[in-house]
Amino acid sequence: MVSKVTLGKTDLSINPIGLGTNAVGGHNIYPNLDEQQGVDMVKAAIDRGVDFLDTAYAYGNGRSEELVGQAIAESGKRQEVVLATKGAHTDDGGKSNRPEFLKQAVDNSLKRLGLDYIDLYYIHFPDEDTPKYEAVGALQELKEAGKIRAVGVSNFSMDQLKEANQDGYVDVIQEHYNLFEREAEETYFPYVKEQGIGFVPFFPFASGLLAGKYEEDTTFPEGDLRHQKPEFQGEKFKENVRKVNELKPIADSYGLDTAQLVLAYYIHQEAIDAVIPGAKRKDQVFHNNKAADVTLDQATITRISQLFS
Ligand code: NAP
Repeated sequence: MVSKVTLGKTDLSINPIGLGTNAVGGHNIYPNLDEQQGVDMVKAAIDRGVDFLDTAYAYGNGRSEELVGQAIAESGKRQEVVLATKGAHTDDGGKSNRPEFLKQAVDNSLKRLGLDYIDLYYIHFPDEDTPKYEAVGALQELKEAGKIRAVGVSNFSMDQLKEANQDGYVDVIQEHYNLFEREAEETYFPYVKEQGIGFVPFFPFASGLLAGKYEEDTTFPEGDLRHQKPEFQGEKFKENVRKVNELKPIADSYGLDTAQLVLAYYIHQEAIDAVIPGAKRKDQVFHNNKAADVTLDQATITRISQLFS
């Protein structure tokens, strides 16, 4: 039985291994997605006790929210799910954090999801001109009105986060963090620990690289996000694959595979409350969920940290 964690200073209690759903209806991110497979995966995840689901308007311009909402409804377990979504993208491809825009965006998300409240709503990206405390103030009003249960921000710089949190309204942040991308340890971690803010890393597998399944000669089709990412190109990609391979014997010693070891490593960090690995298939979800039960010793944690220092 997995012990639940409390997300930041919210009253949201979750399994520390959640599910990222940008591959559920996120046709603008991944080509050739099968929508029914996505819905079935989310339902199977909920049935298995995965209760922290992460979506966004930006994933398929609302399609991911519709499909995740459908899966929650069909699961019959709304009360057991902590649903996080995000907004800031405008129809013309820009971003807005204006209070009136965010309030409308939350109403639109509620409709697409088919829900009467959202557990955690993040401002997905900062815009250029709205004062961040005003943007977050609008979400705080929605929280007081019962439309959302917790306030989040994502892709905010430290300065933007501090401005957003000047009244103490930020409950959770979601930022880029994984073993290849560790800057957050120096920037966000000390602040979130001090303020009691929950930290949810995105790209925990560096888009699959840290799941340990690629060979040095793996290639990605055009239209796939990874086709253009620098860490998936040429010598850099080969070097990254070699580094990930060094995790395999450590994972073996715990009877895990690399993906599970990496997830377990993250949730052992004090600043990290939960992770939201993305998945396309049920078996990946079931597999990842097992990492919630793993206990790593301090020597292992130090070794992994040193490998990717
Ligand atoms: P990720 O979690 O780093 O990687 C996900 C990929 O890893 C999957 O698509 C799958 O790739 C592979 N994978 C997952 N489990 C696996 C397993 N057990 N074995 C082998 N491979 C496995 O990247 P992500 O999905 O882009 O990010 C996670 C979530 O973070 C997203 O779903 C989204 O909710 C959120 N996110 C937020 C932001 C933001 O701006 N706030 C940005 C990006 C992502 P394949 O099956 O395709 O190989």
